[in-house]
Amino acid sequence: MVDVLPSYVADSWFTPTGSGAITSDASTGEPIAAVTSAGIDFGKLIRHSRDVGGPALRELTFRRRAAMMEALAAHLSEHKQELYDLSARAGYTQHDATFDVDGGIHSLLVHARKGKVELPDDTMLLDGEVERLSRRGSFVAQHVCVPLRGAAVHINAFNFPVWGLLEKLAPALIAGVPVIAKPASSTAFITYAVVRHIVDSQILPAGALQLICGGVGDLFEHLTGQDVVCFTGSAETAEQLRSHPTIVSQSVRFNTEADSLNAAILGPDATPDTEEFGLFVAEVVAEMTQKAGQKCTAIRRAFVPRSSVPAALEAIGQALSQVRVGDPSDPSVTMGPLVSLSQRTSVRAAVGQLLNAAELAFGQPDTVEVVGADAERGAFMSPVLLWCSDASRAEPHQIEAFGPVCTVLPYDSVDEIAELAARGEGSLVATLVTHDVDVARRMVADVAAYHGRLLVLDRTCGKESTGHGAALSQLVHGGPGRAGGGEELGGLRGLRRYLQRTAVQGSPDMLTAISGRWVVGAERHTDGEHPFRKYLEDLRLGDAVIAGPRTITLDDIDSFAALTGDIFYAHMDEEAARANPFFEGRVAHGYLLLAVAAGLFVEPSPGPVLANYGIDGLRFLKPVNPGDAVTVTLTAKQIRPRKGYGEVSWDAVVTNQDGDSVAEYDVLTMVANRPAG
Ligand code: NAP
Repeated sequence: MVDVLPSYVADSWFTPTGSGAITSDASTGEPIAAVTSAGIDFGKLIRHSRDVGGPALRELTFRRRAAMMEALAAHLSEHKQELYDLSARAGYTQHDATFDVDGGIHSLLVHARKGKVELPDDTMLLDGEVERLSRRGSFVAQHVCVPLRGAAVHINAFNFPVWGLLEKLAPALIAGVPVIAKPASSTAFITYAVVRHIVDSQILPAGALQLICGGVGDLFEHLTGQDVVCFTGSAETAEQLRSHPTIVSQSVRFNTEADSLNAAILGPDATPDTEEFGLFVAEVVAEMTQKAGQKCTAIRRAFVPRSSVPAALEAIGQALSQVRVGDPSDPSVTMGPLVSLSQRTSVRAAVGQLLNAAELAFGQPDTVEVVGADAERGAFMSPVLLWCSDASRAEPHQIEAFGPVCTVLPYDSVDEIAELAARGEGSLVATLVTHDVDVARRMVADVAAYHGRLLVLDRTCGKESTGHGAALSQLVHGGPGRAGGGEELGGLRGLRRYLQRTAVQGSPDMLTAISGRWVVGAERHTDGEHPFRKYLEDLRLGDAVIAGPRTITLDDIDSFAALTGDIFYAHMDEEAARANPFFEGRVAHGYLLLAVAAGLFVEPSPGPVLANYGIDGLRFLKPVNPGDAVTVTLTAKQIRPRKGYGEVSWDAVVTNQDGDSVAEYDVLTMVANRPAG
């Protein structure tokens, strides 16, 4: 008898009674746990997310939620060893486990760091700039994003029990939507351990995370258009789930990350004597053996110029002969078993189908030498390299052997590549190995439409490249067509799935109040104290200073040129400037205008403004000629409290004597808090 894995429902651990599907150690076949969700009230689960988790998360700002991810990362880092040890039971070597465990924690950190810098300390996210909708500017619009009011249901594949949980968790929680995680049964014991540590840390508010170990019961029946389902797994399951009547009738957002026949393409320039050839071989071998090839991103199709095929088969085979298959906890072992005996059966069956079109170039699907374990009891399998001389055969482009299997296919000219790669009908990633910039540009243009990510690998980036298979949190992960048509990660792009984008129309004053960002046309306060004399707590949106006019002289231009060394002809040479289609003669330097504007609006004595740390969105709109008089209007546009100070951005508009804008930009300053007492 083995223990049943508990689920985490409504902030309590719930252990179903009775039996469930047995998860076994991938190397020894020894039972680990029983997995069942019998007895879970799935309606309660959803209600808890809606009524408890959602409100608690929405109380916090985007930035505070991002900070929680940093705290979670720190907490989970203390428990890595336990997670590595559990991962070995799923067949992962230390290297495989690092990919999953450290990769997952790193994903939390990337989201946290990006969130802290790029997201507001607010509960509403602004999307894009204000749209002016009327002639006089009294009717404008702003797109805003707010969290959906439901739950994020995350269904994951077995092969990334830690990373899969965390890479989905971070964007949902930062967006403000509580998560119901459902790991694949075969590796749920690892996800369970992670969730237990998260719960113990007490970092997340009540209801923010629930866990289902086992099936999802009638969960889908309870979903509405405020919920989101993010599914990772096979195309077959994806199809079944996204056509569920509730998903269809309620327009439930559904993201799919499915399987794909990813490609690596050896460029025609990358002949066997080049560094690129070695990089290609290493990449194919790594993708075949890491996690025993059980990666959605693994290279399944290796396209090689026909003349290089013998050398490629030889080199890949040679490298594969060095692979030690066996007990994943043995440090000398470089490839562990598949996750289960049934998974091995599926992979062998897929190889059988592939062999209708291909021949074995390395390895046997049914025999393998195993180090430190029983070859019969564990789900061990040799890496299998196949060679298919006819690239037009359907099998290599359609059959996913989700294990250490790859097929080498020939091509005769670059013209064929796009068509061959596209036969996968949409993939997560492809690697192009070439040092020829023309080939690279052409291949990218031709194959990008069928891929979510492209790695262009050559001698320059080879050493530092993170490799074909690594889905990085900063970059989008997903692919069109067979790959599911979904998109995850991509920095903070992943948050959008959990947010409703709404166009809000109204007056500039209304939108200033709603959005927390001053909108052109809204009230300006110019009557009181100079805004640079105000501490953060005293500043209001719309506090402004109008300064000028100041006439720009030829002397100013000469002095500025002498000071800076900027003697570009348009500022210095009347005749040459006139010949320029944009100018009527010598014009002031744009940076002179910025400097003059600063001289006009600044309040010189020591005060709350601590520093100017940059300028955003600078545009010079009209030339300024000697004799023109400029005026600057500076308006407090956005006020963002930080720890111990605040960031204030100011809308700056420089106009000439005719009232025409000559320059527009945002000035970024740091402003002190009012001293205590
Ligand atoms: P799977 O059999 O499709 O299962 C995926 C998930 O769906 C598991 O959690 C599974 O739970 C659950 N599931 C299955 N039937 C369900 C149903 N009727 N209702 C609700 N949930 C259901 O895939 P897998 O074998 O775990 O993973 C391997 C596949 O995933 C490969 O094809 C691989 O290419 C793909 N994959 C894709 C990505 C990507 O990012 N694109 C990443 C990893 C893996 P149970 O285990 O409890 O059945």
